[in-house]
Amino acid sequence: MSLLDKFSAFARLRDELLQHGTLPFGVVTERILSPTEGIVQGRRTILAGTNNYLGLTFAPECIEAGRNALTEEGTGTTGSRMANGTYAAHAALEKDLAEFFGREYALVFTTGFLATMGMVSSLAGREDVLLIDADSHASIYDGCRLSGAEVIRFRHNDPADLEKRLRRLGDRSRNTLVVAEGLYSMLGDQSPLADIVAIKDEYGACLLLDEAHSMGVFGNGGRGLAEALDLEDRIDFVVGTFSKSLGSIGGFCVSNLPELELVRMTARSYIFTASPTPSVVASTRAALGLIRQRPELRDKLWDNSRRLYDGLTRAGFRLGPQPGPVVAVFVDDTTKAVSWWHQLLDEGIYVNLVIPPATPSTSCLLRCSMSAAHTTEQVDRIIGAFASLLSERRAAGTAV
Ligand code: PMP
Repeated sequence: MSLLDKFSAFARLRDELLQHGTLPFGVVTERILSPTEGIVQGRRTILAGTNNYLGLTFAPECIEAGRNALTEEGTGTTGSRMANGTYAAHAALEKDLAEFFGREYALVFTTGFLATMGMVSSLAGREDVLLIDADSHASIYDGCRLSGAEVIRFRHNDPADLEKRLRRLGDRSRNTLVVAEGLYSMLGDQSPLADIVAIKDEYGACLLLDEAHSMGVFGNGGRGLAEALDLEDRIDFVVGTFSKSLGSIGGFCVSNLPELELVRMTARSYIFTASPTPSVVASTRAALGLIRQRPELRDKLWDNSRRLYDGLTRAGFRLGPQPGPVVAVFVDDTTKAVSWWHQLLDEGIYVNLVIPPATPSTSCLLRCSMSAAHTTEQVDRIIGAFASLLSERRAAGTAV
């Protein structure tokens, strides 16, 4: 075995996938036309796999704010938050986030990945325990590795399993950080947050909640699942991203615990990477304002999401357990999933193809995500394109 032999399995997988045509991963959007449309393989395509939940990537307010910052403050900060990379606008965005979430403290990171990884690895050290949902995002897993803490997984969305594991820890439960997500991004299912909060309180543990996919989506103020369930006061740390509902890039953590301020001195992913560029900070601040000012975007997102979920259910697909902005279609075998993904793209519909081990089960997923910017007609076209996949199979006499 030489150093690079480990890549041969990936080369084989890539060649296998290429036999079907375009590689389904890293597809090039040749031209982006709007939050919901782009040119892909020379064809006008409906984008139904973007995480652009509120469709704010082309909001004139965000573009104008970004353009002004670019002109006035330049293309980049060329330094980390810890050194020369904190401008007044970074501090102002932190103030905006603290106000938005009604918390004392807020920290801005360069990406959501770096925020989650940095928080998990800073909050837990060698003497501590990380008790994480088994279906956690890669940034949580990587934070666990960096922390040096003991890592224990509880069964996905299973409060009884969480309780059992906290009980077994005895006094160490007080040195435990429980980590969960609001909305899980692969199946679109929601965390049983009220139960998780009750259990972590009972055992004196801390809770970090990743609202990456739930900010802007849940709650009258768009603050996420914790707001929708009236649990905000009982969640110790909330992390999130600017790259989904806010339509830019970056990440954050908010809390009422003063220790969050000290994370500026401990999180390597905060200290050793350049800060977000001025235009990103400015457009993010504008988008945060729009979440507040335009609650109708959330209503439209949910209308679209329910329409897609109901339409695909009626068409006969097996979906994730709950309707929401992530609608995951289960497909049992990889060849069928890849072929369907190509057929959808040929019909001008882009969705995410997810293959194990990136999926939480042994099935593949055709993962759709809805946006407030999708029109009803676009949602119906997505449903129609999926339905025709099944009618072709029926016509060919093949079981679904
Ligand atoms: N946490 C979760 C739950 C995510 O799904 C993601 C992105 N998919 C991230 C963190 C990282 O966010 P970003 O892409 O903004 O780095």
